[in-house]
Amino acid sequence: MNLSAGSDFSRLGEASRAFLTASHALRIDGEARDGTGGWLDIVDPSSNEVVARVPDATPADVDAAVAAARRALTDPAWRNLRPAQRADAMLNLALLIETHGRELAELETINSGRLIANTQLFDVEFSAHVLRYMSGWATRLDGRTVDISAPYLPDGEFFSFTTREPIGVVAGIVPWNVPLCQAVWKLAPALAAGCTVVLKPAEQTPLTALRLADLALEAGFPPGVVNVVTGTGAVAGAALAAHPDVARISFTGSTAVGRKIAQQAAGSFRQYNLELGGKSPVIVMDDADLDAAIPGAALAIFGNHGQNCCAGSRLYVHERVFDRVLDGVCSIAASLRLGPGLDPASQMGPLVSRAQQRRVLAYIDDGRAAGARVLTGGGAPDSAGCYVQPTVLANVDESMRVVREEIFGPVLVAMPFRDEAEALARANRNDYGLGASIWTRDVSRVHRFVKGLNVGNVWVNVHNVLDVALPFGGVKDSGVGHDLGEESVLAHTRIKSAVIRL
Ligand code: NAD
Repeated sequence: MNLSAGSDFSRLGEASRAFLTASHALRIDGEARDGTGGWLDIVDPSSNEVVARVPDATPADVDAAVAAARRALTDPAWRNLRPAQRADAMLNLALLIETHGRELAELETINSGRLIANTQLFDVEFSAHVLRYMSGWATRLDGRTVDISAPYLPDGEFFSFTTREPIGVVAGIVPWNVPLCQAVWKLAPALAAGCTVVLKPAEQTPLTALRLADLALEAGFPPGVVNVVTGTGAVAGAALAAHPDVARISFTGSTAVGRKIAQQAAGSFRQYNLELGGKSPVIVMDDADLDAAIPGAALAIFGNHGQNCCAGSRLYVHERVFDRVLDGVCSIAASLRLGPGLDPASQMGPLVSRAQQRRVLAYIDDGRAAGARVLTGGGAPDSAGCYVQPTVLANVDESMRVVREEIFGPVLVAMPFRDEAEALARANRNDYGLGASIWTRDVSRVHRFVKGLNVGNVWVNVHNVLDVALPFGGVKDSGVGHDLGEESVLAHTRIKSAVIRL
């Protein structure tokens, strides 16, 4: 274990160090603007030291950002850009993200605690990939011609068609677990559709969103097209989600906040997609390739320190192979080297904050009190950082909170089952419905599970493979609508029907 006492700035490059130590402002209308409220401390969770501070935006700041986005929507500088020019700006931004990749990855790692390899791969490379794919949609949005009948106008001759227009100002509200990547997931389909955006990053991890707004300007997006307000969810987030000039709310976060947003948006008929929590099952059948399933199940829960909406946090294993799978997963868990995300030797970093660390530890205690057996982990190492040991709990069932609720940390609950029907029923016995994986060599069984699992995303012999070309969304308490894919772009457009009498 390498749990350094303080923030290790020596591993930062010049660019990220300079950005970190600069004074920070909101990004509104192409300008770095001071907020009208106080400040938020930004903490490195590997040391719990404050490494920056950002404005704590007020409703007045949110108002200014939405007004800028609204102006930009109809400003010829954006509205009159040809689709191919919008695509070019998106491609420029993808390239700038890659060019500044090391800086962005370092900022993300020091701010979120995640491993540098992970922030490079997802927050940088996947973000660029998303922008490139979505840029293609800018030139592919079209309507239809429709041969109408209008029987009540027998003498008329008509030409009718539909067009797709940008839906308007989009509020992109994102959490802290994959901050830059989530911000780009919100931004890219909106920009492809010709919308303008106000991004609200999580209060814990706002740094890369601010940098992203600067890069968007450099990429050629006119002022006001990409705005960023940093601040708390309760004030800035709530003001943005409730703003009457926001046409669509694209939210990723907890189910509780998503529910509030949906209730509010319904009152004014504004549209939304909500990507919410999960408690995804990993089902290992007795015919599975266990050499793949064991590391696969470990990665499903311990990847990104369990701070993953799709984390495979419930492990169901056929009773014939239960002991072998559990031994394998536990020995991987026990071998993971905890340490700061900037240290390339670390295999798991701290959780995002002290509050999250306490929440996860409280769940482990709750499980213990309810009768769960801790097979490995079960606590926090002695460190100033917000670490939690990779933990596996057995002797659990669906009556326990640790099995029902999303923990959002490196805590796995493992249960044996007797047959396929039991596995399917128990996998579906949860309020969430985000993802699930099934590990088997039987192709008919694969199809039965794909059909039977009540979730938005199913993986077979792998867990949590997402791609920009595939829509990603949940059912039940995991949300409504989709990020990514064609679906996400079309959701940022509105259809207009036109009839011309000839
Ligand atoms: P959260 O809901 O507390 O916060 C998410 C974002 O919403 C933050 O920017 C926050 O400031 C803002 N917010 C908070 N209260 C708000 C309010 N009243 N109005 C408007 N905005 C508000 O969630 P979190 O704890 O930061 O993130 C973890 C959650 O996100 C987990 O439940 C996780 O499963 C979920 N998540 C889901 C997906 C997905 O795609 N389904 C992906 C990542 C994370």
